[in-house]
Amino acid sequence: MKIPPLTIDGVREGLLSRQFSATELAGEALRFAEGENATTGAYLHFSPERALAAARQVDDKIARGEEPGPLAGVTVAVKDVIVTKGIRTTCGSKLLAHFIPPYDATAVERIEQAGGILMGKTNCDEFAMGSSNENSAFGPVRNPVATDRVPGGSSGGSAAAVAQGTAVVALGSDTGGSIRQPASFCGVVGVTPTYGRVSRYGLTAFASSLDHIGPLARSVKDSATLLGVIAGHDPRDATSAAAPVPDYAAELTGDVKGLKLGLPREYLKDLTSETGRLILKGVDTLKSLGCEVREISLPATDYAIASYYIIATAEASSNLARYDGVRYTFRSGSSETLSDMYRNTRGEAFGAECKRRIMLGTYVLSAGYYDAYYLKAQKVRGLIARDFANAFQQVDAIVAPVSPFPAFKLGEKVDDPLAMYLSDIFTITGSLAGIPCMSVPCGKTAEGLPVGMQILTRHFDESTMFRLADAFERTQTR
Ligand code: GLN
Repeated sequence: MKIPPLTIDGVREGLLSRQFSATELAGEALRFAEGENATTGAYLHFSPERALAAARQVDDKIARGEEPGPLAGVTVAVKDVIVTKGIRTTCGSKLLAHFIPPYDATAVERIEQAGGILMGKTNCDEFAMGSSNENSAFGPVRNPVATDRVPGGSSGGSAAAVAQGTAVVALGSDTGGSIRQPASFCGVVGVTPTYGRVSRYGLTAFASSLDHIGPLARSVKDSATLLGVIAGHDPRDATSAAAPVPDYAAELTGDVKGLKLGLPREYLKDLTSETGRLILKGVDTLKSLGCEVREISLPATDYAIASYYIIATAEASSNLARYDGVRYTFRSGSSETLSDMYRNTRGEAFGAECKRRIMLGTYVLSAGYYDAYYLKAQKVRGLIARDFANAFQQVDAIVAPVSPFPAFKLGEKVDDPLAMYLSDIFTITGSLAGIPCMSVPCGKTAEGLPVGMQILTRHFDESTMFRLADAFERTQTR
């Protein structure tokens, strides 16, 4: 059986018309993905037993005439910072190289309840810290569009898997841009929902006040369907919101006439010309669909990177303290005292970026510096949120680039952390404000590198974001 890259609807049609069974589809998908993985290294490991067991359940339901669920038979790749019961979850770190979690993340649980098939776990930057996937302890991922380039990060493996067609959809995690930026680099759709929309239960904590789980997909509709499945209140995450979850996919009417869009001045000045041109062309397309576009200002944008790298590292330094050689798998073998054991374990197992962030975060939280750095950064975060709140009094959605440049070459920025941090300049603001934001493909550079357009909306208004992205996607030929 040869399977074309399918959509969620395509899988459903194939199953219900008995063109293939879920078991056949999963078996073929696993064979295909294992073969393709040699090119990109998108997956760290596969979960064939679990995939085939879930597929058999879907087939049984269909045979009994029951509704098999909105993700019936749909293959899903899961970023390896999201825990999966009985399946290794490494967070791209040597520290957790052999860690087998005893429970499932809520998002994973909901995917399987909806009939989804867990293919395996995808590579990522260590503890989701990075923008290129090069911080993984298990080697980088290659961008399927151009294999000498990075797929973006930190959800690079999930974006590459979806772009390569080895999963229909994937889960990523986003703290400062890690879903949108790799989606943009690999030419797929990536969604960061409102903070609190999707439970973080089972998402390994990096910076808890910024961490989100969200979908990656080859179409807006598929990303909307997946979000509909994983979203909603979860008593196991105190920050998860009780807000009702609309049927996002059903709301994709294609009609965006009269929608007011804001183009932030601060986001359009530093673009390399090709990315800038593609975004502006995208804006023209949105105008031709009947949207009203006006320039807006988000004046605190300039301070976003500085504030993010204080808040995120502060929270990371605290969250990563649990990896002490006692509670999780890796422990250094050669220590005489307890404190040596802590030191050696952390020294040997954390990569350079994690160490950098632990040190920076500990510094900004230390007595005497807390007010000058951490507190100040929180105030700036407040200003950024206020900028968006003001903008959304005039407009329904904001349109911006995702990244200042397309996928860069492997190795190009690894030695310059600051240059790497600057790739998040347009994604970090939305994360700090906790508003929904997504990347939708908006064309390719002359070299054939994908560029994503970012759409941001009010808290809990994913509906408008999806409607706009879907209407735009309908105008694009891929
Ligand atoms: N690149 C950013 C960082 O390194 C964002 C990471 C993320 O969103 N997980 O912090």
